[in-house]
Parts: sequence; structure tokens; C-alpha cells
Amino acid sequence: MYMENLTWDEFNEIKKKIDTVILPIGSVEAHGKHLPLGTDVFAPVEIAKRVEAKLREKGKEILIAPPIWYGHSFVLDVFPGTINVKADTLRRYVRDVMAEFAEEGFRKIILLNGHGGNYYPLVEAAEEVARRYNVEVWLINWWIDFREDILSICSSQGHAGEDETSVILAIKPELVKMEKAEGEKRTSKVRKIRKDIALELFPNGVNDDPRGATKEKGEAILEVISKKIARFILED
Ligand SMILES: [Zn+2]
Repeated sequence: MYMENLTWDEFNEIKKKIDTVILPIGSVEAHGKHLPLGTDVFAPVEIAKRVEAKLREKGKEILIAPPIWYGHSFVLDVFPGTINVKADTLRRYVRDVMAEFAEEGFRKIILLNGHGGNYYPLVEAAEEVARRYNVEVWLINWWIDFREDILSICSSQGHAGEDETSVILAIKPELVKMEKAEGEKRTSKVRKIRKDIALELFPNGVNDDPRGATKEKGEAILEVISKKIARFILED
């Protein structure tokens, strides 16, 4: 059930029966020359949709909240189209959104995150809310939490890489320019924080070889992840 489609009195009735809300969070960010800027939102929004459908089949209703589009993206900010929000701004914004859901009576808030730069601000926001309210927050980072599953489907993973490109091929194939897909895995022995570090580690906004991406791999990734998240919710 999508919150934005409800009237306030429908919402008021529904929240008496539903205790879990999924909040997709992403970023507007460069993802190579082959993927759209909305990639990090498209993936969690799609996973949320599939989780909701699977739970509904089992007779459990959850609410999907409107996504948070803008995220913290210091590293990729060097590329046009990356709209970076400071970590503290994101932390306070997501904290306030979660606090409102807690005050509405939701007991479980699932942050379905699509973007690595959001990780620390989201942990801090969740800790603040969990301290203040009787609420449990789950922070799901799909490409980290389900890495084993992903690497049983893809030969590698990374920013705008084989896994992410496959997922977008499955969701919005018309937006993927596979003829422009290229890149390689680059790492640094220590974490270097410098405003143009992406030129070294993410040339063209990519950090993996995306050329092995396929729609079928993306479909398999989305299915295994959404199936597992739905199971975690049911078994909790
Ligand atoms: Zn991404």
C-alpha cells in the first residue's frame, strides 16, 4: 500500500492495522555514462514494491512511504548531476521523518537504502529515533546485506557495476545505455577523503566492470532480495 495514494482518513484507519513502514532512500547521483541519475532510488523502490506484493500474498499488509530522493554523496559530487546533501542534513531530515512515523504509531520502520554514502547518517538517525521512541528501525543496504546472493548471480559488484546495472536493466531497460557501459574495480588501501577522489577511484562515475550485466541477472537479484526481506518481516 502506497502512502501517497491514501487520504488522511484512509491512512488513519490503515495505521490501526499496519505496524510496519518501508521508507526507500537513495541519491541523485552519477552512475557512469550508462545508468540514470535516479538509479539509487529506482532499486529500493522496486524492492519495496516486490516485498509488499509478497507479503500481501501471505496476508500481511505493510505501508510503503514516499521515497527520499536526495542523499549524501561527497565522493561522486565531482560529476555533473550528483546532488549532494550534507551528511548532517540527511541525518536530521531522515530522523524527523522517522520520528513522525513513530508518533503516528508505527512500531517498525524499515529504511531500504540504495546508496552507500547514506550509511553513516542513517545509522545515526536510526539510533536517535530508537532512543526516543518505542520503535525498531531496520537499516537494509541491499548490495551489502545480500552480497553473497548477488555474487552467486554476478561475477562482481560495485558502483554502476554488474549488479547495479543488471538491476536497472530489469527495472527500467529503456534508460540503460549498454553501449556506453565500461569500467573497472579500483580500490585504495586506506580511505582517502579528497574532493576529487572519484576521478581516481570512480572514473566516469563507475567502480566495477558493468559489461556482464543482464536483465535476467537483475531480475534474479531483485527476486532473491525481496523474497528474503519479506521472509525476515514475516518471521520477526
Ligand atoms: Zn548506486
